[in-house]
Amino acid sequence: RSKDAGGGVFHAYEPQLHVAAEERRILEIALRGALQNDELHLYFQPVVDAATTQLTGFEALLRWTHPELGPISPSKFIPLAEDARLIAPIGEWVLRHACAEAACWSDDLRISVNVSSEQLHNPAFVSVVAQALSQSGLRPDRLELEVTESVFLREGTGAIRVLDQLLGLGCRLSLDDFGTGYSSLGYLSRTRFSAIKIDRSFVQAAATGGREATAIIRAVVALADSLGMATVAEGVETEEEHRVVAALGCDKVQGYYFGRPLPVAEARALMGVPTGGDSVAA
Ligand code: C2E
Ligand code: MG
Ligand code: MG
Ligand code: MG
Repeated sequence: RSKDAGGGVFHAYEPQLHVAAEERRILEIALRGALQNDELHLYFQPVVDAATTQLTGFEALLRWTHPELGPISPSKFIPLAEDARLIAPIGEWVLRHACAEAACWSDDLRISVNVSSEQLHNPAFVSVVAQALSQSGLRPDRLELEVTESVFLREGTGAIRVLDQLLGLGCRLSLDDFGTGYSSLGYLSRTRFSAIKIDRSFVQAAATGGREATAIIRAVVALADSLGMATVAEGVETEEEHRVVAALGCDKVQGYYFGRPLPVAEARALMGVPTGGDSVAA
């Protein structure tokens, strides 16, 4: 093994697979320290009413900035956290901070928190949510937990019971990234979702004249209506996309056109909440 071949940690002659495994190992070790070293923060992205564009709440999005590696995308470190059994402590941190922050806002605004299916397969998760609510004093119906269709892939693992218990606490559930995963309509009638979030890929395709995407959004809106659920169009980046999803009947919209995910101080400024307040999320 020649050390001068590549320099750094990775060797150019190693198969891609090994490089990926090595990178994962390094990230996993770094992620273990991220909580203690204060490297995690929440960003908040506005969610607005599709017809009036009035603010209805924010989605909390986790950010990790490693001192040397820089910002690492949640699409990269969340799956890693799930594999490394770090998702429980990280998820708990997210819930506590998101609820504490939202408790400082006007009480008609909701906070959405992403929950991965790994978290829902842990029965202790219900008490984590209950505690985040009681410690922050946040009214339970102001907390919306976002889950994806993948939750329903492993039936019989108790995740559906956990969802029912979360509803029992009084919080809301929404179905994230709808249409991108394994879709079975059966569970839509089994679990009481408040909202279906329509994935950005459909929004984009519909706004550029895609007939199938338009038909799918129309069908999802009709289905949601008849089940008493709201629809949220995700990833709206342009005025045209807003126009199209509003015309198709989506109730809420979220995306760069209305606001990028913001650090806590900027999210507060948007709402007129004084910064420097003492939410632990600051
Ligand atoms: P998601 O829940 O579907 O979140 C939406 C993603 O779309 C976010 O990516 C957001 O920054 C991005 N986005 C919002 N508006 C636009 C837009 O107009 N255009 C484009 N191109 N993108 C937009 P982000 O923050 O990188 O998060 C990626 C995923 O990571 C999330 O997808 C969610 O599944 C997961 N995630 C984020 N935070 C958490 C967390 O605290 N816990 C868990 N379990 N998962 C999280
Ligand atoms: Mg989400
Ligand atoms: Mg989504
Ligand atoms: Mg997503």
